[in-house]
Amino acid sequence: MIITKSREEIELMRESALIVSKTLGMLATEVKPGVTTLQLDKLAEEFIRDHGAIPGFLGLYDFPNTLCMSPNAQVVHGIPNNTPLEEGDIISIDCGAIKNDFYGDHAYTFPVGEIAPEVAQLLKITKESLYKGIAELRVGKRVGDVGYAIQQYTEEAGYGVVRELVGHGLGRKMHEDPEMPNYGRRGRGKKFVEGMVVAIEPMINMGTQRIKQLRDGWTILTADGKPSAHFEHDVAIIDGKPEILSTFKYIYQALGIESDEEDAFRQELLVV
Ligand code: MG
Ligand code: MG
Repeated sequence: MIITKSREEIELMRESALIVSKTLGMLATEVKPGVTTLQLDKLAEEFIRDHGAIPGFLGLYDFPNTLCMSPNAQVVHGIPNNTPLEEGDIISIDCGAIKNDFYGDHAYTFPVGEIAPEVAQLLKITKESLYKGIAELRVGKRVGDVGYAIQQYTEEAGYGVVRELVGHGLGRKMHEDPEMPNYGRRGRGKKFVEGMVVAIEPMINMGTQRIKQLRDGWTILTADGKPSAHFEHDVAIIDGKPEILSTFKYIYQALGIESDEEDAFRQELLVV
């Protein structure tokens, strides 16, 4: 059952999403060779609590940390550890926070120093596919339209779309209806309605779409050991159209990157 949100509830969800956005923005300049994912996890937990929120992943389904930290061939759900990041790595950081009883949940894949051009291309295409998917989140369209847009764009680039893990509705629970696969057929699946809030999150592999899981019961990695990227936004349907509640602007501000990629999906221009 899809739980739609009122305008007031959507504004509360924007607050939760923006705490995650600011956390990712804070981490942007901390991601560098030599730092461990566990150090970054501690910084994020402190930051979230300092902002009057609760880490959303810590303890959820017994996950042990604040951040899911998935370097290189890890797709998602990596557990922070004491291994330092190295120049040329990529690190997918997925973060959740709860404020006013609502979850925020979004993710960004960061390059660590200079990365290989083909890996930079994977990040670029995966992030672009996120916006291709968001553009389809309109009243009257269906779950399959979002999945189709993401799949079409990334498979055209020769990449593999992970099937086993999907985006989801978001609200007072981290995972609500509907499931939002990153693959699909046009015009198929549940219909979008006013007041929905979903997390759209393409998980795209440079090589095969196939994945495996480590014995830790969490870490998902590519079956062929090639890199994987993950970008996630929280998006509401307001006045029939997609409105991104989260933002990568704090990351871009920290790194000195100019971007207007979100502007088409924000009815009120966000000042950061
Ligand atoms: Mg997430
Ligand atoms: Mg999610």
